Amino acid sequence: MIQSVSNRYIQSERMFKQAEKSIPGGVNSPVRAFKSVGGNPVFMKRANGAFLYDVDGNEYVDYINSWGPMILGYNHKDVVLAIQEQLRLATTFGAPTEVETELAELIKVMVPSLDLIRFVSSGTEACMSALRLARGYTKRNKFIKFSGCYHGHADPFLVQAGSGLATLNIQNTPGVPSAVTDDTLVAPYNDIAAVEQLFEDYPNEIAALIIEPIAGNMGCIRPADGFLEKLRELCNTNGTVLIFDEVMTGFRITPGGVQEFMGVEADLVTYGKVIGGGLPVGAFGGKKEIMNHIAPLGQVYQAGTLSGNPLAISAGYATLKVLNENPEIYTNLQNTGALLKKEIHQILSQKGVTHSINQVGSMISISFGEKEITNFEDITASSIEKFNEFFHFMLSHGIYLPPSGYETWFISDAISSSHIDKTLTAIRKFK
Ligand code: PMP
Repeated sequence: MIQSVSNRYIQSERMFKQAEKSIPGGVNSPVRAFKSVGGNPVFMKRANGAFLYDVDGNEYVDYINSWGPMILGYNHKDVVLAIQEQLRLATTFGAPTEVETELAELIKVMVPSLDLIRFVSSGTEACMSALRLARGYTKRNKFIKFSGCYHGHADPFLVQAGSGLATLNIQNTPGVPSAVTDDTLVAPYNDIAAVEQLFEDYPNEIAALIIEPIAGNMGCIRPADGFLEKLRELCNTNGTVLIFDEVMTGFRITPGGVQEFMGVEADLVTYGKVIGGGLPVGAFGGKKEIMNHIAPLGQVYQAGTLSGNPLAISAGYATLKVLNENPEIYTNLQNTGALLKKEIHQILSQKGVTHSINQVGSMISISFGEKEITNFEDITASSIEKFNEFFHFMLSHGIYLPPSGYETWFISDAISSSHIDKTLTAIRKFK
């Protein structure tokens, strides 16, 4: 039975008010604050499999999965065991450990294009370091990104940076000097003519082109046919480093990520989320020729006190091992994604609710508008108000969706037919 809102979230409301006194906005990452959808965030207590349980005892089928990392669902036994075993030994030394090499070797099996990989502690760090490396390697400063793509919160990327900023309606971020973003060139996603123009305008000046090769920060968007291939070609012609930001898609879309899925190889690839199995890990890697420039092999400096710490790396290793040894997981995730898309589309169509659904594997997003979403402009034109209504309706029916119409949902392998049924039953009641 659905309780009234005031009864349902008593503890969450109390904890949020308390948190606001000591933590800016009561949260440690802005999108958690429910600013876009309205209301206050739900405080979580525990999770298992496909379910989250909040501090008031409400149960939710989870379609966020900590924004991607929990691809196997919560409390997967292999991941829990790996963390427990490492915990007994030590959490960090600031010295090398064997499990770091084991994870690097496993990643090279899953992503054969990589020769060398460096572990960091977040997706932000991975993208920031990959850009520095590309600039150091090419001895150029400018780089191209796409509007609506997010590459973490390092200064040079905070230009038309997708979901997090769009959710809060932040256009220009105070604190980022224009000198730092002067070399950031922006093109619309899926617009090859705009990219060609930038290469024409800045010959021999563009160090890197960075892209979410399947985008997830303006809903989920698949690149247009031939788009990535054409970018690869343009980067080859112009001596520009092609960086795939696979922080969302890495180990999620296929074992080898979008590189494998679309058959296009990048020069550098960045990772986060799934690679840490729920603990903070990021990484960037690529061909030796470029990676040899990173310190201590080369002069491009990058470092981290907790980088590669064995606790986080053990969780990542256990997660990737399960994925690598059970490739049917990817088939299941794709089937779940496709089924959700088909069924939700059918229900909303029958109700006459205007919508459009994008889905690739276990990434899916629903927008409420006539137009199919192919870039940031499209999603901005959709009805965020309708999404907000949908979000709160689903939350009150025990379905936890990202609290922003700009975000993609992430499906975990723990989602089964009973969870899907519960989700669809809720949507059938949505007006
Ligand atoms: N790149 C992409 C594509 C992302 O989606 C994100 C985070 N959502 C990042 C980079 C930054 O990762 P992190 O939050 O771990 O710093």
